Amino acid sequence: MNKELKEIIDNSDNVVFFGGAGVSTESNIPDFRSDQGLYNAKSEYGKSPEDMISHSFYVRNTETFYKYYKKNLIHREAKPNKAHIALAELEAVGKVKAVITQNIDGLHQLAGSKEVYELHGSVLRNYCIKCGEFHDLEYIMNEDNCENGVPKCSKCGSIVKPDVVLYEEPLFESVINGAVSSIMSADTLIIGGTSLVVYPAAGLITYFKGKNLVLINKSKTPYDNKADLVINDSIGKVMGD
Ligand code: ZN
Repeated sequence: MNKELKEIIDNSDNVVFFGGAGVSTESNIPDFRSDQGLYNAKSEYGKSPEDMISHSFYVRNTETFYKYYKKNLIHREAKPNKAHIALAELEAVGKVKAVITQNIDGLHQLAGSKEVYELHGSVLRNYCIKCGEFHDLEYIMNEDNCENGVPKCSKCGSIVKPDVVLYEEPLFESVINGAVSSIMSADTLIIGGTSLVVYPAAGLITYFKGKNLVLINKSKTPYDNKADLVINDSIGKVMGD
């Protein structure tokens, strides 16, 4: 781990980590808003990724939504990287109290993290819109359970929807509240893999009243001058090596 970061963590009792898309890209999960994702959606459907995974598009074009969603947002082969593993280990020894993530891939839990606030939900959870029955990722990816790619509930036959916050949908209040209260009680906040320009990241940072703000991102962020430590490098390398 980076020496200065290690020193800060050694002298902290309540570390909270907030991670953006950059944490997942190092597990080879492309940021669907990146150039490539944008190009895919634009060339195939003439729409932006934000349009493709919006609530209104899901309602009006459920088949196309699922086609795009399964192809671009599901990465079953992805494994936790060094950053995920380091955070899980730091939680196990009592240093890290919570991980807040904008990613929907469940890799923090797969690495062993327990206290995870998933601001945008998780592709691993799916619920019937009528009876609420839970279905896992394998279920919705199995075409035998789908009608033209749209998963149908094994119990009642209604549509199964991913537990992912789509564009135009509000964030889950309980998740936001948990994230805010963990940030408020943190003495160190590490923010990684996000340029901090997109809501809600920029808003959450204002709740931090602790002593050490650490920013780890490949490029500069608008908060660099407010941070106690800025590391412009890969998150896996900074936290893992
Ligand atoms: Zn059902």
